[in-house]
Amino acid sequence: MSRRAMVAGNWKMNGSLAGNASLLEGLVAAMPGHDRIDVVVCPPACYLESVGALCDGGLLLGAQNLADQGKPGAFTGELFGGMLKDVGCSHVIVGHSERRALYGETDEVVAAKFRLAQDNGLIPVLCLGESLDEREGGQTETILARQLNAVIDHVGIAAFETAVIAYEPVWAIGTGKTASPEQAQSAHAFLRAQLAGRDARIAALVRILYGGSVKPDNANELFGLEDVDGGLIGGASLKAADFNAICAAA
Ligand code: PGA
Repeated sequence: MSRRAMVAGNWKMNGSLAGNASLLEGLVAAMPGHDRIDVVVCPPACYLESVGALCDGGLLLGAQNLADQGKPGAFTGELFGGMLKDVGCSHVIVGHSERRALYGETDEVVAAKFRLAQDNGLIPVLCLGESLDEREGGQTETILARQLNAVIDHVGIAAFETAVIAYEPVWAIGTGKTASPEQAQSAHAFLRAQLAGRDARIAALVRILYGGSVKPDNANELFGLEDVDGGLIGGASLKAADFNAICAAA
């Protein structure tokens, strides 16, 4: 596989100045061992700058969300993509299932955010995934196609040359249930085939991460799958030993 693996830690709404500093110390110490992959940490927005200042050894900084606004202005509580770039972010998570489910982000909003990330020099990590009901109802591929094509139709397939996709089955996030290797490979291969339907060259180079209860003891098997190019890690990104072990598996 010629794609460079990536492991991104989504800290969600967790952290403190003191806790972040000790976590970063543990991550940076391990960075020389991860020179074949991209490692990204995505702290809460209020910690981006302080965490960024501690990101040595090639560790990259990402945000968890950005505004769906094309310029700064009167949008209380929102974060313009250019501001995230300004404080050192290289990546931003877009369309996480918690944003879709808890904050009402539609496919259209997610597509707008994807474009605004790129407009502001950020690499979007586009999250997609089906719920348990959708999987049990045999809707997985329909949902994945809808979520992916909403973005492709808005930005064009060429935009995926500088984007990352994360397949995150909603039923596997924070539940301790992981997709089986067959389920993960099948969803990743389906997403890559959707991309290939638009442009085979781009489909072959887009990294598709798996997310949903990735732990040190299942990372090897998941990352060994043909179409899995690394992971988006929630709970296990909050402990240096666990996150480092997951990075070592990629
Ligand atoms: P989890 O979260 O690893 O805690 O399941 C993954 C995610 O939501 O990105």
